[in-house]
Amino acid sequence: MTDVDLDDEEYEKHREAGEILAEVRDEAAEMVDVGVSHLEVAEWAEDRIRELGGKPAFPVNISIDHEAAHATPSVDDDSTFGEEMINLDIGVHIDGWLADTAVTVDLSGNDDLAAASAEALDAALETVEAGVDTGEIGAAIEGVIDGYGFNPVVNLTGHGLGHWEQHTAPNIPNRSISQSTTLETGQVVAIEPFATTGTGKVHEGNDEEIFALEREGSVRNRQARQALDQISEEFKTLPFATRWLDTSRASMALRRLKQQDIVHGYPVLQEEEGELVSQKEHTIIVTEDGCEVTTRSR
Ligand code: MN
Ligand code: MN
Repeated sequence: MTDVDLDDEEYEKHREAGEILAEVRDEAAEMVDVGVSHLEVAEWAEDRIRELGGKPAFPVNISIDHEAAHATPSVDDDSTFGEEMINLDIGVHIDGWLADTAVTVDLSGNDDLAAASAEALDAALETVEAGVDTGEIGAAIEGVIDGYGFNPVVNLTGHGLGHWEQHTAPNIPNRSISQSTTLETGQVVAIEPFATTGTGKVHEGNDEEIFALEREGSVRNRQARQALDQISEEFKTLPFATRWLDTSRASMALRRLKQQDIVHGYPVLQEEEGELVSQKEHTIIVTEDGCEVTTRSR
């Protein structure tokens, strides 16, 4: 459960993270165009977050076409954008207090799919106030996406944002389900509808570039030890990319840490090849009669 009695300073850090993030998201979305490099956009956004006084809460996710989540460029990635559907999912934290947002840039000529997730998010935000059932939020999302003739991705959900924790209770479903969880004033949550031409159930692909610390531990291998020191100190339990590690032979170091269950990976989550996925996400603070969107464009 996300904490509902943060102090003023902690809420201010959430808001500051949101403000930085809104600016970086909008500027990064502007950069996306046919022929532009994925790695250039991801690194630009992560550097810009640091310049503005925040830290990336997780690697910039760049999901293309049937991909929905957990894709980020590798260290020497040479992919460029084509006439595709591109989802940018970006996070910022200030001392572990988080903001999480996503937007679709459509270069594929399927603006109605992008509009479906964007309108679903607007409809979801309309329902939010203290005491709202999370199933009601899901119903609003599903209603809009259904109306467009697409499917919501039902096995990805919105979530609470904890201190140094990107995903905490409550889950915010992307469909109507009776789960009888209500939101409370002061909760910080992310709502993230995904709309797809596919079945609405994503599965794990083969690519894995994002990892997070699972438990403390010790390793003998020097590069693995260097990587673990950096992870524990800098990222703590937040997700990081292979390309963020300073050690030489980072992939080997991560393999060792995974073998010992000290870190776990996040394989890319995707629909079937040939399908498309759009996504829109905002972070909010629940209020008595509505919500404050921390990641709103300024
Ligand atoms: Mn996100
Ligand atoms: Mn999220």
